[in-house]
Amino acid sequence: VIYLDYNATAPTRPEALAAVVDAMHYVGNASSIHLPGQSAAQRVDSARRQVAELLNCSPGEIIFTSGATEANNLALRAAHSSGRRLVTSNVEHPAVLETARDLTADQPGSLILLEVDADGLVDLAALENALGHGDIGLVSLMAANNETGVLTDLAPVVTAAHAVGALVHTDATQMVGRLPIDLADLDVDLLSLSAHKFGGPQGIGALFVRRTASIPFRPQVTGGGQERGWRAGTLNVPGIAGVGAAAAAVHRSLAEETARIGRLRDLLEHAVSASIDGYRVNGHRVARLPGVSSITFPGAPADAVMAAMPHVAVSDGSACASGAPSPSHVLLAMGINRHDADCTLRFSLGYATTEDHIMQAADATAHAVKLVRASMDACT
Ligand code: PLP
Repeated sequence: VIYLDYNATAPTRPEALAAVVDAMHYVGNASSIHLPGQSAAQRVDSARRQVAELLNCSPGEIIFTSGATEANNLALRAAHSSGRRLVTSNVEHPAVLETARDLTADQPGSLILLEVDADGLVDLAALENALGHGDIGLVSLMAANNETGVLTDLAPVVTAAHAVGALVHTDATQMVGRLPIDLADLDVDLLSLSAHKFGGPQGIGALFVRRTASIPFRPQVTGGGQERGWRAGTLNVPGIAGVGAAAAAVHRSLAEETARIGRLRDLLEHAVSASIDGYRVNGHRVARLPGVSSITFPGAPADAVMAAMPHVAVSDGSACASGAPSPSHVLLAMGINRHDADCTLRFSLGYATTEDHIMQAADATAHAVKLVRASMDACT
């Protein structure tokens, strides 16, 4: 199988696998004060340092969660104050969109959804406009879109939001481990990440909470007060060791990986352009992640194309929302019509992708698209 679905989940890095297996041998609970407990606690501390080093923040600002969905919930539910307005965009992952809708359900008008342009870029003028009009408590904008890879220019968002006293959260699930993030420079108050997008285990993630920001303390999971009270429950030491090891591996190789993966993505788009008539790459061509290509093949429904090339693992939009029959809300928000949205494949590359994978995937896609188009023509 040629695996090009890193935005859904990345293959586990060997370093993360080794760390998880090693941590499974710890017998202590990281909250116990005896020696085995303290060994487990030290393992957690070292993983916390590894994650903090990747983001250039302090280890004390990292709260481990079960993933980015929980981190997004924790961030929005803590930082949104009832009565103040919440700003986000209509291309966010459901973990933000649905949480924002839930939080504001009984306050009509208190949720402002910013639109994106045809390139998938958030309209910063609309943000300025929203900030100028009302009592905004929180702005939550994703760092990189999971379907198109389009990036949000967060620095001006932070400046504008802080100027009116609003907090800023970013869902950086697709950005962490793919492009550098420097939290000493980027002044967001909260940031969510998920280990399995950059080679760590599934079911573990983290929320960065800036120490100097005044975020009201509002845990969702209450109990024994772990993670400084933010997230109760016995710590998942193997998962935490795994995210730490993945973060350390990424930290060592990020610059080289980013450049290599960007070249492979360009090679894929070039190979597609050479072998398939009628295709369109979606999203801004520069402001996007190096490893993502969202391509529409008009007249070739994505589910049929994927069925015609089962050995190539790609996605027909967001795998997180798979099973949902509705077309991608992200592509629709970019002005792509329903029919074309249904004819869109997402290729997402990562650390283990090779040139050979790309050439084989491009060949298989060309073959599958032609086959599907011919069968559609035969039916009409
Ligand atoms: N946010 C974004 C942008 C994502 O792409 C995903 C997963 O695809 C999530 C949040 C949810 O992450 P998790 O699987 O860790 O809950």
